[in-house]
Amino acid sequence: MNAFASDLDRTLIFSQRMLAAYGADGTEECIELLDGKPVSYISPTTKAILKQINEDMFFIPVTTRTIEQYKRIRLFQEDIVPEYAITSNGGTILKRGAVWKEWTLHVQELLQHSTPLEEMIKKVAALDDSKWIKKIKPGDGMFFYLILDTERFSPDRFIELRELSDHLGWQVSLQGRKLYFIPKILNKWTAVHHLRDELGLSDIYTAGDSILDAGLITNGTYGIAPLHGEVVEDSLAFNKTQEAGIKASEEIVESVQSRYRNVGAKR
Ligand SMILES: [Mg+2]
Repeated sequence: MNAFASDLDRTLIFSQRMLAAYGADGTEECIELLDGKPVSYISPTTKAILKQINEDMFFIPVTTRTIEQYKRIRLFQEDIVPEYAITSNGGTILKRGAVWKEWTLHVQELLQHSTPLEEMIKKVAALDDSKWIKKIKPGDGMFFYLILDTERFSPDRFIELRELSDHLGWQVSLQGRKLYFIPKILNKWTAVHHLRDELGLSDIYTAGDSILDAGLITNGTYGIAPLHGEVVEDSLAFNKTQEAGIKASEEIVESVQSRYRNVGAKR
């Protein structure tokens, strides 16, 4: 059996902010509400192909979202229901919606060897001299992210935080006005690799847009990033789409589907 292990936000699904930045044709479908307000969307083309992919192989969402944030996406609870999903940047594996406890225990053990979460939050908060932090948000007890005041946040500050984190065994990823701090030990590919062994997966197609997806993209049998991705800015060595924004998601699922169909035909 094969799998398509893919990041969600800015890869397959998009916020209003992203639609506004890169354009949309108005056919996009709302798939997530927060406090009654629409917050994320999918292209109908992407949805239809993804549905087919989920029937042909394992479609494994691999997201930095917390468990709660992942479950809020109606699409993956109702229309396309993946058997496995990876949340919390690899910290949690969900099997039919339930936490795979052995994996969580394994991750907690690994995290013992990393700079503790509380210590990282303290160090980062201590640098908030000009009030560029709007909020500090927890991530399932394993990581955290900041909501930034982007007007007050500078590229120099970002570099400073990246160096500080790197030194302490953490990594940062800037996604719009959210700045993620994640222990390096917590990564998406490690969780996918575990599923590969457990499920005996052969080919794993992967996609993602951020620095946090780099390992996922490079370790997959075939990995691709959307043109607008943070990961593409960081390195040129990735397969990437021709277009940016929601259109990129269509290219991603189309390229994955045509690849596995081709491979299947040759066998
Ligand atoms: Mg993403």
